[in-house]
Amino acid sequence: LNQDSIITALKSIVVDGRVLTDDADLKYYGGDATKRFETDAMAIVFPCDIAQVQAIVLFANEHKLPLVPSGGRTGLSGGAVAMNKEVVVAFDLMNKIESFSSVDSAVSCQAGVVTEQLQKFAEENNLFYPVDFASSGSSQLGGNISTNAGGIKVIRYGLTRQWVMGLTVVTGKGDILELNGSLVKNATGYDLRQLFIGAEGTLGFVVAATMKLTSPPKDRAVMVLAVSSIEKTMELLSRFREKVELNAFEMFSERAMEIVTKQHELQRPFSASSPYYALLEFDLCREDTPELVLSLFEECMSEDLITDGVISQSSAQAESLWQLREFISESLASHRPYKNDISVAVSDIPKFMSEIENTIVKEYSEFEIVWFGHIGDGNLHLNILKPKNLDKETFIKNCELLSEKVYAVVQSFSGSISAEHGVGLIKKPYLHFSRSDAEIDYMKAIKQVFDPNNIMNPGKIFSLDD
Ligand SMILES: Cc1cc2nc3c(=O)[nH]c(=O)nc-3n(C[C@H](O)[C@H](O)[C@H](O)COP(=O)(O)OP(=O)(O)OC[C@H]3O[C@@H](n4cnc5c(N)ncnc54)[C@H](O)[C@@H]3O)c2cc1C
Repeated sequence: LNQDSIITALKSIVVDGRVLTDDADLKYYGGDATKRFETDAMAIVFPCDIAQVQAIVLFANEHKLPLVPSGGRTGLSGGAVAMNKEVVVAFDLMNKIESFSSVDSAVSCQAGVVTEQLQKFAEENNLFYPVDFASSGSSQLGGNISTNAGGIKVIRYGLTRQWVMGLTVVTGKGDILELNGSLVKNATGYDLRQLFIGAEGTLGFVVAATMKLTSPPKDRAVMVLAVSSIEKTMELLSRFREKVELNAFEMFSERAMEIVTKQHELQRPFSASSPYYALLEFDLCREDTPELVLSLFEECMSEDLITDGVISQSSAQAESLWQLREFISESLASHRPYKNDISVAVSDIPKFMSEIENTIVKEYSEFEIVWFGHIGDGNLHLNILKPKNLDKETFIKNCELLSEKVYAVVQSFSGSISAEHGVGLIKKPYLHFSRSDAEIDYMKAIKQVFDPNNIMNPGKIFSLDD
């Protein structure tokens, strides 16, 4: 079939949906937040229901047409990027919350429901959906599930996987599978639902999900603490964790603080600067929590574990302290950072950071490093800023060479080259640093079962012919 016939056929499948082919639309919907790749999609198709998704998949199998699932396009690994005349399947029209059971604390959603939409729905029903991150206003559940997104509250509430009760998927073969429904217990063999979580659209489409909700947190408080070293930051984590139920434990460096406060015109929480800052959030669930936290704060000050700190006195102040952390990623954009999302065991963080810094300095002493991340989960965002005098192409090339060395360090710590952003295109060449050849072969074999014609997001995570 030629391109025109394919587009005509797609239009007849999604009669009440949409098919876009303008250059601007192909570029917009053919990419994600990486903005690094030259996109080249054939068409963008917006199905309205599961039957239409299935019809698209069956049509694609018949004509060996590659499909790229696209959610909110906030992904940071190039997973939703179309570069080879693929048809992008976007879920923007499948954005309904379909049913809710207060007894099960379960809500059934179409795949295009935006994360924030689910958070608000939970709030309106006096419940809570705890997975949260800076892109919650645009990312979709289908994308969150397909990347097993984490975010700022993993230390207390876990990753997206923990909140997926059931999934409806259309496999790469075109079968509709209902995986687990709203069951809490289900010991009937392989849990195929788990395979689709984090699969980055390589096995099929997530078309609907039943998500679990929980009780809302009580009033919360946020602290920002100035810390002179990473070792002390980790000691702080264990001191607070022992006595307080932490919702979040984040870290950012002085350079991150400098950039975020300047770029977003935010107030520094205190005048003194410090090499690192820890941001802690906890619920004020027990009456004695404020005194407990205050006495921990004083103890840490007297032992020189922290040099300054502030605690929120209102929810508005808590929000503005969070902005110091949540706006970092966006504020770095003008510095054209080379981003890395890596993880190691929490206890390995200080040694790991020091080895990474030594590796980078040895290779490119002019590269500036900005650290921040979900350090309570062992998850670090390593950002390398582009020196002003270096052109973009050379910078990226040098960073890619450097990545090999950085990931060799990650491997030596048995860490992960992608903590929560997925593999997509960006991390694909480095997968072997975190997964053995045997594991990758099993993954390829699994893909072939669900997607024998390799139409589902081909070339993401791995290429079958590598
Ligand atoms: C400022 C910023 C902050 C971020 N912070 C975090 C963070 O703290 N933690 C974190 O984990 N991530 C974070 N991210 C990354 C991103 O927001 C998440 O990975 C998010 O879950 C992606 O959702 P999306 O809908 O935008 O997916 P997309 O980017 O559209 O797609 C992501 C992947 O999922 C696939 N996919 C999308 N929809 C479907 C579907 N229905 N069926 C099958 N496959 C599908 C795509 O093909 C692609 O492989 C951040 C991103 C930005 C821009």
